[in-house]
Amino acid sequence: MSTNISALANRPVIIGGGAAGLMTALQLAPEPVLVVSKAPLGAEASSLWAQGGLAAAMGQDDDPALHLADTLAAGADLCDEVTARRIVHAAPAAVEHLAELGVVFDRRSDGGWRLGLEAAHSRNRIVHATGDGTGREIMRALIAAVRRCPSITLLEGVEARRLIVEDNAVKGVLAVNAQGPLVIDTGRVVIATGGIGGLFLDSTNPAGCFGQGLALAARAGAKLSDIEFVQFHPTAFDGPSRPMPLVTEAIRGDGATLIDETGARFMADEPGAELAPRDIVARAVWRRRAEGHRVFLDARKHPGPDFARRYPVISAFCKMAGIDPVTDPIPVRPAVHYHMGGIAVDLEGRSTVAGLWACGEAARTGLHGANRLASNSLMEAIVCAEWVAGSVSNASRGPLKTRATDLALPAPDPSTIRPMMSQGLGVLRERSAIERLVRGLSPIANASNAASDPALVGLMIAVAAHRREESRGGHFRTDFSDTLPAATPSSISVSEAFDAAREIMESEPLSLGSAQS
Ligand SMILES: Cc1cc2nc3c(=O)[nH]c(=O)nc-3n(C[C@H](O)[C@H](O)[C@H](O)COP(=O)(O)OP(=O)(O)OC[C@H]3O[C@@H](n4cnc5c(N)ncnc54)[C@H](O)[C@@H]3O)c2cc1C
Repeated sequence: MSTNISALANRPVIIGGGAAGLMTALQLAPEPVLVVSKAPLGAEASSLWAQGGLAAAMGQDDDPALHLADTLAAGADLCDEVTARRIVHAAPAAVEHLAELGVVFDRRSDGGWRLGLEAAHSRNRIVHATGDGTGREIMRALIAAVRRCPSITLLEGVEARRLIVEDNAVKGVLAVNAQGPLVIDTGRVVIATGGIGGLFLDSTNPAGCFGQGLALAARAGAKLSDIEFVQFHPTAFDGPSRPMPLVTEAIRGDGATLIDETGARFMADEPGAELAPRDIVARAVWRRRAEGHRVFLDARKHPGPDFARRYPVISAFCKMAGIDPVTDPIPVRPAVHYHMGGIAVDLEGRSTVAGLWACGEAARTGLHGANRLASNSLMEAIVCAEWVAGSVSNASRGPLKTRATDLALPAPDPSTIRPMMSQGLGVLRERSAIERLVRGLSPIANASNAASDPALVGLMIAVAAHRREESRGGHFRTDFSDTLPAATPSSISVSEAFDAAREIMESEPLSLGSAQS
């Protein structure tokens, strides 16, 4: 029998204890709120792993209008310009707010911001902390602030498994902890569960980030948007560790170059060279490797001897692998890193289901379009948390009581679908591989076992990728390599995904190679 934790009922429930979830909880204070996190705070959040920093127009030579222009250019015409403008204009104040909460950012000796440069930014505008430990420092301060805040109740070790929804409105959360199922009555839920990298074999994300929030929202009837846009980071550390350690772009911002095993610098003639948008660099590295080469980041001259001081985290894992970045090139390869799409929300984080909001990487606000500009994601999570909290706070909070449910839901486990996702949805995609993926995932998503929720999210991404017959930003189709003149955001529901999957299953399988046009 499930337990109904009635003493905590009717409070907003925030699912996820990363930067988005914690900041939303802090912004809701003094309203009592529950934060549900399946792992102890910080243990399984991409937020903790962020290296580069936060993008904000803080420099003397910078302006939010320039930040906006760079964001729109990286997004390949798919950004929502109104949303993007509002978010980048709010970014400098969000950085100041984090500093007030106790985040110690790196400063110059005169007290000014020490601003880094990352790919596709026209100015140095990356605010960072302890060099490459920005996420850890932000999470340290947020976790301390949350633990001090009397209105926030933290439920660590509690995993949300289903939303209880009636008449397209949220009525509660079905969750599980070590003791068994819990039912939390609430009409207000914020999904802040992070990204989807854990659905793939090669990813920089914590393994537990496999899109559970997208499954919760989709099964509750919410629309997802632009989910075919998955960002591959061009420079994950090419070693045996999974998740793959990230070799931040900031090192290329410092002058490091990409070379192959012969020493040839293969990006030199591309516009923007190593600091071209991520999708372009990732494709160049992917193709070089497909030609049989190995790829390395050469930081021997720049930043050179300063490497360990500037990038202590990366320096440490390179050393463990027997590589000294001052004397050795660092082996790198592309890996799934960030999800541009997610739960379709408006600027206040409202989804298409009443009482359901989303914030952070799980949400699709329209800021990133087809390709995220580096370091715009932590910033988006921090900025949007304030607006989401305002909307949650203003929403109706009438008491309600859900019917306790004994629905037994297996703990989700994406391990069987990871190889399928990596085969079907790589840096370069094409129809027959996507259709094979749909055929493989559909029966699993339709079943009710540990792989079903991860398979559902994978299936929805595959169908969205199948439908988008063009190449744009992070979505590159070798069979449709042109970009269509009109950029159209995509939208998909569970029933649409199953209908499309059925059509694909009923169609004649394509023979290998016949998809090229
Ligand atoms: C290695 C790495 C480096 C990065 N560097 C940068 C950078 O420099 N700058 C930048 O802007 N972005 C960076 N990013 C991206 C950025 O870190 C993320 O987009 C952002 O932190 C996401 O925050 P979030 O709060 O949405 O999700 P997360 O921080 O991932 O938190 C998700 C939380 O949800 C919990 N959760 C998930 N499912 C459930 C469930 N069913 N029930 C309960 N809890 C659940 C998880 O346990 C976790 O606590 C990086 C990402 C990685 C992986």
